[in-house]
Amino acid sequence: RIVYVNEDYLPEEEARVSVFDRGFVMADGVYEVVSVLDGKLIDFDGHQARLKRSLEALQIRNPLSDEDYLAAMRKLVEDNDITDGTIYLQVTRGNPGDRDFAFPPEDTQPTVVMFTQSKPGMADSPAAKTGWKIITTEDQRWARRDIKTVQLLFPSLAKMEAKAKGADDAWLVEDGKVTEGTSNNAYIVKNGTIITRELSSDILHGITRAAVLRFAREAQMKVEERSFTVAEAQDADEAFVTSASAFVMPIVAIDGAQIGDGKVGSVARRLREIYLDESRKAAI
Ligand code: PLP
Repeated sequence: RIVYVNEDYLPEEEARVSVFDRGFVMADGVYEVVSVLDGKLIDFDGHQARLKRSLEALQIRNPLSDEDYLAAMRKLVEDNDITDGTIYLQVTRGNPGDRDFAFPPEDTQPTVVMFTQSKPGMADSPAAKTGWKIITTEDQRWARRDIKTVQLLFPSLAKMEAKAKGADDAWLVEDGKVTEGTSNNAYIVKNGTIITRELSSDILHGITRAAVLRFAREAQMKVEERSFTVAEAQDADEAFVTSASAFVMPIVAIDGAQIGDGKVGSVARRLREIYLDESRKAAI
């Protein structure tokens, strides 16, 4: 696999980042995951806009232009022969040459890394037909979840807790209300209304969330942006999650309680179809 590191395209074995890199020693960096379908990038503009917001929030200089990122992503897709898959992009505060809590000087070059992950047929994943089973667990992340930082240890622990319990993923819960999934936004459907937590620093502002809510409203579906409890979710007609890599993924059980009839719901199925159709059309 050819990967990108600081303007170089290298075989993955040859790519190097310093041991002092702030991303490595302090999780001082941000990332994006962009899906590729039919060799084209999905929601590129949305991911670029959020990358810039994350960098600004952490006062990390953005070393590249939108055009540079686009050109690099397209080159990686081509060099690695990616039809369907994802592109991972990470920008860290760079290498100060030593370890120090204070930020390095302004002119320190941020580190940019990009790599592809090939996932042939990812839009037809069998899981989308049977749905995921999830557990819930207390949300113990920091309070700025609107910044897409590389500090993913808590979501990783929650994912392992889900796996240990035979589930596919975990929803995180704070003050009795669901915030989001480990790496996705969370939704329920009750009497035809789609309910998902409102935007704030409590959750990541999902690019897929924004697109799916827009398509839902355009299709005259009712949308309510508000938080909900685990009990309300277990009593809902449907549940699902959204993310750049899972698209719209139905949820069929929460903490062992079946949702609706335990099968993939019609709203989730329809939103997945609309999202995939529309984003393929708009892909660049
Ligand atoms: N919430 C969290 C915590 C995430 O990590 C992600 C994606 O990685 C999402 C939501 C979904 O965001 P997007 O739709 O932009 O992929």
